Amino acid sequence: MKDYLTANIKNILGEANMSWDFSTDPEFQKKLDWVKQFVDQELIPLEVIQKDFSEQAWAEALKPLKQQVKDRGLWACHLEKELGGQGMGQLNLALMNLITGRCVFAQEVFGNMAPDSGNSELLAEGGTEEQKEKWLWPNLRGDIRSSFAITEPWVAGTDPTQIQTTATLDGDEWVINGRKWMITNASRSDFIIFMVVTDATAPAHRRCSMIIVEKDTPGMDILREIPTMHHPYTEYGAVGNHAEIILDNVRVSKNNLIGEVGGGFALSQVRLGPGRIHHATRWVAEAERAFDMLCERAQSRHSFGKPYAKHQMIQEYIAESRMDLDTAKLLTLKAAWTMDQLGNQAARTEIAMAKVYNARVLYNVVDRALQVHGSLGYSCDMPLEMMYRSARMAPLVDGANEVHKVTIAKQCLKAYVGVEGWPSEHIPTRRESSLERFSHLLEVAG
Ligand SMILES: Cc1cc2nc3c(=O)[nH]c(=O)nc-3n(C[C@H](O)[C@H](O)[C@H](O)COP(=O)(O)OP(=O)(O)OC[C@H]3O[C@@H](n4cnc5c(N)ncnc54)[C@H](O)[C@@H]3O)c2cc1C
Repeated sequence: MKDYLTANIKNILGEANMSWDFSTDPEFQKKLDWVKQFVDQELIPLEVIQKDFSEQAWAEALKPLKQQVKDRGLWACHLEKELGGQGMGQLNLALMNLITGRCVFAQEVFGNMAPDSGNSELLAEGGTEEQKEKWLWPNLRGDIRSSFAITEPWVAGTDPTQIQTTATLDGDEWVINGRKWMITNASRSDFIIFMVVTDATAPAHRRCSMIIVEKDTPGMDILREIPTMHHPYTEYGAVGNHAEIILDNVRVSKNNLIGEVGGGFALSQVRLGPGRIHHATRWVAEAERAFDMLCERAQSRHSFGKPYAKHQMIQEYIAESRMDLDTAKLLTLKAAWTMDQLGNQAARTEIAMAKVYNARVLYNVVDRALQVHGSLGYSCDMPLEMMYRSARMAPLVDGANEVHKVTIAKQCLKAYVGVEGWPSEHIPTRRESSLERFSHLLEVAG
């Protein structure tokens, strides 16, 4: 019985001795209020004409907006102060991302656009001074762009220990051979960080290293932009594309290795944990926007003599969505809080839960909103069809949901031990034990 109780207490409290406080610092709340009006009034109206801009005109249009963000002290909030960020911690960042995630290009305006954001964290953690000068600082200034390449077409991306692309040291140069795919922004990046096998005989998690390859390096061929559900009609070099890349005897300096040989997996944890929670938080913001559309439509249209809002099945969509969204927010903020209190590694279960749950919430809420809009929802006259196609990626990117569930289950199970014979809750056994302990009370009462 004791083991059972101990297990449950651990489970309820989590690893931290947690107290619950849902208030936001009033000074920071003022910043959040500014972010909300800035995103809704200055950024979202630009979304629908973004395609009318030339690339150069778009960059010019964003400059004063980025300046406003910088002036408010909200630029690159994912980074520590010494890297030009704000050092505001994950919880405050999550509160901000719950707003900025409403707009598709807000990440760029706030200086925390993936994959650059994760790459800068990686270079900050593992890069040499020379690498920081060459790639980190220009990347943080927004002068150059970057990509991150792990996934390969022939082996499971969910299990990167199977990576086949190799790098061998030849004198002062790494010689890289292999194929990567689905690499976001690769065709327009100035440098790409590749995860490659540097020692095939090492233990699984020491086989890989990270090596930087600059654009136009001979032997690196951006084979094609892969059309996807989100962007079925790709234009070479557009932001947000995902490329297939062949590496054929690509030679780079041995100084392009980030961290140590065999340190690729350890380094990737620096990047992936925070990256996951940032994406998962923005998914909630996007789902909130779909929820706004759902409720507005429910109040606006009638059928069978009453507004949709008065049909019980529509009310169920609304209630389920609201509960999903609030649960997602709580999971997300708890994960962010745990990262601040105990570090990224200690928060891995919380991050996994937020990732899995929020991916599902985004998909479900967008789906319900689209349904309630009928043919208008299916049409390209509403953003819902695009949000729906984009939402389908959430359960499979940043680690497939199934794999995260394995992590969550393993962590939960650590708190439990198997018992011999009957389960701890077996009523006849408990009754026997209770009678033994409390029979004197029964006698008095009787
Ligand atoms: C829009 C988009 C952008 C991307 N950008 C990048 C990028 O910039 N850089 C990069 O390196 N990669 C990128 N990727 C690739 C992405 O990281 C991989 O798609 C992902 O890791 C899954 O790998 P996979 O596609 O090989 O699928 P697989 O590994 O083949 O997995 C497919 C499915 O198998 C099942 N599965 C696998 N393992 C298990 C398990 N243990 N238990 C139960 N089920 C399991 C799951 O259902 C999973 O979804 C991107 C992908 C997309 C869709």
